[in-house]
Amino acid sequence: MDDAAAIRDIYTFGRILGQGSFGMVIEATDKETKTKWAIKKVNKEKAGRSAVKLLEREVNILKCVKHEHIIHLEQVFETPRKMYLVMELCEDGELKEILDRKKYFSENETRWIIQSLASAIAYLHSNDIVHRDLKLENILVKSSFIDANNEMNLNIKVTDFGLAVKKQGRSEAMLQTTCGTPIYMAPEVINAHDYSQQCDIWSIGVIMYILICGEPPFLASSEEKLFELIRKGELHFEHPIWESISDSAKSVLKQLLKVDPAHRITAKELLDNQWLTGNTLSSARTNVLEMMKEWKNNPESDEEGMADPKSTWHAQEKLKGHQLSQDVQLGTTADEREDQQPSAYAKTFSVTKKKQNVDNSDDTTYSSSTSSRLTPPGVRGETEKPSVTSHQGMTTKFTTKSLALPRTKKKL
Ligand code: ADP
Repeated sequence: MDDAAAIRDIYTFGRILGQGSFGMVIEATDKETKTKWAIKKVNKEKAGRSAVKLLEREVNILKCVKHEHIIHLEQVFETPRKMYLVMELCEDGELKEILDRKKYFSENETRWIIQSLASAIAYLHSNDIVHRDLKLENILVKSSFIDANNEMNLNIKVTDFGLAVKKQGRSEAMLQTTCGTPIYMAPEVINAHDYSQQCDIWSIGVIMYILICGEPPFLASSEEKLFELIRKGELHFEHPIWESISDSAKSVLKQLLKVDPAHRITAKELLDNQWLTGNTLSSARTNVLEMMKEWKNNPESDEEGMADPKSTWHAQEKLKGHQLSQDVQLGTTADEREDQQPSAYAKTFSVTKKKQNVDNSDDTTYSSSTSSRLTPPGVRGETEKPSVTSHQGMTTKFTTKSLALPRTKKKL
């Protein structure tokens, strides 16, 4: 395309949806079909060569993905000075904004969001794509509704593939790293496992934790301390909200936030997880009914606490409220795999990078935002410095943007 005028022949531009790092995102309507789109307009000169490269990488990856929870790139227009990315419109904005308004999501609402997210990430990983920058800001909401139980149902879309990578196939990578005849190949090379995609799983863990309690799992007064916390990966469920959250949800978090990427749950495994599929609800309900039946037939048995009517009622009440708490001890339905380590995995990861540029200013809070720049232990290998935002009282602002390029996003 020679100039931008041609674009104006196709679309009518409307309201500004947001300000990206390299340009504005504007709502636009196709004059012919009347379909609404979000067009990201990038001034190539202003953005600089490295930013354009990232954008091209994003475009190349988006062109070959198709998933209901990944942003759809409809078209790309390019003029000598500008690039226009025509994307599906997400009318409800960023998930982060919804969370900021709501403060936290219920366990069910979180489950539905994580279901969609896990499905998108499992799809990417099965296609050897690693997003590497999953965070609340990179999850857009296409539409939403409140259901009969007053719970929010969101149709989410994963976006911002600027830092995503397509991994080489195993044999291709092996050829490059081993260069030589297989008779010289060491066993660790043959067995080498690549866990680089597991950084996305860690990010899902951070996202899930934040969705439930409104705060990140790791938070410290300096970047150094924050990284220490992340490397330790100790999870705390001290906020009063956690009392109403099921053990199975906590178990999922522990599996997502396993420090060793080899022991961290994979996206595919996550999809089958009972908490995620909601299977714990039906099995818990069966258990309650069974316990009630048993108590009716044998009321004395409550001496052993087996069928205490109070605890049964308690369990029923919890079920009514769609809480999947396991604390009623009516049969274990929680996913107990948290400490099971996949036997096929070998621990091949090592943490090598040490952090530089520590800023110790008092009012600065470092959080393990979901950005992969604050990468999970074991998968850090890049040199970008995580961004940091100010601590603002109890509701800590933990927004971070990717640091490959300066980002100054302003919501208009
Ligand atoms: P960048 O990655 O360069 O920071 P984004 O892609 O995040 O830019 O876009 C900036 C803002 O524009 C987003 O925070 C969001 O509010 C809005 N936005 C981006 N894409 C869409 C979309 N497809 N639909 C609706 N709003 C969008």
